Amino acid sequence: LLGTLADQAAVAIERTNLVSDIENARLATETERLRSALLSSLSHDLRTPLASILGAASSLISYEGSLNAADRLDLTQTIQDEAERLNRFVQNLLDMTRLGSGKLKPRTDWVDLRDVIGSAVERAAKLLRRRQVRVEIDPALPLLRLDAMLMEQVIFNLIDNACKYSPAGTPVTVWTALRHGHAVVEVCDQGPGIPAEDRERVFDMFYRVEEGDSRAAGTGLGLAICRGIVEAHGGRIAAQPGLNGAGTCIVIRLPVADADQPEAPPIETVE
Ligand code: ADP
Repeated sequence: LLGTLADQAAVAIERTNLVSDIENARLATETERLRSALLSSLSHDLRTPLASILGAASSLISYEGSLNAADRLDLTQTIQDEAERLNRFVQNLLDMTRLGSGKLKPRTDWVDLRDVIGSAVERAAKLLRRRQVRVEIDPALPLLRLDAMLMEQVIFNLIDNACKYSPAGTPVTVWTALRHGHAVVEVCDQGPGIPAEDRERVFDMFYRVEEGDSRAAGTGLGLAICRGIVEAHGGRIAAQPGLNGAGTCIVIRLPVADADQPEAPPIETVE
């Protein structure tokens, strides 16, 4: 009996080793894929805006005497826009590194989602280009336990994407509701939508939907960061088609802890 048990144990160990070998090989391939995706994304995302900044700055210097005010403003605007793009990229990378190392821990407090959405919309104002952001808040929405800064980053990233990937002038909607004990936030646009087969993968690091030049430049990190932050709050995030199957809606579900709502201060009675 002991012999049989020893044999069975040996087989089990062998099998476990085999499984861990396969798992290690899978992890190594995945790490390698991420490493090369990171390198090509880094060089592209740093070089493209840098080239524009250098080009605009050198035009400003070379043609200093012959530029009219409009041209000068145009070139200066390019420098500012591209520097902001670089800034966003570096911020994304920092967030991602902190999420990956588990250092980005939500510091939660009782938060009114309408304030978080309001600040994100305000921050995104520069990206809108004559676009309207409609905000619809469900009045039944209670306060939530959230890290307001991190959740603002999520809503900001989603509005940023909605503006990047949908035609100028089309509206973007941020909509909230209380459903089945969860707070639901949707950021919807009327752009080209995300193909069904990519709707899960767009939340992976560096994954971008390839569709020629019509798609705006980006890092492929924004939605991965959103997912990291939402999941760190115990929530879920998913991509869906918009109304009538057109456009994109990114849907976030956050837990509501009704029983934990802060108690209203007692009403003072005057005797
Ligand atoms: P990126 O920096 O490329 O925008 P994200 O992680 O934010 O990175 O998004 C990943 C990909 O998902 C994008 O490259 C784009 O192809 C697609 N995507 C994201 N949001 C939208 C949207 N609102 N409409 C259409 N496609 C989108």
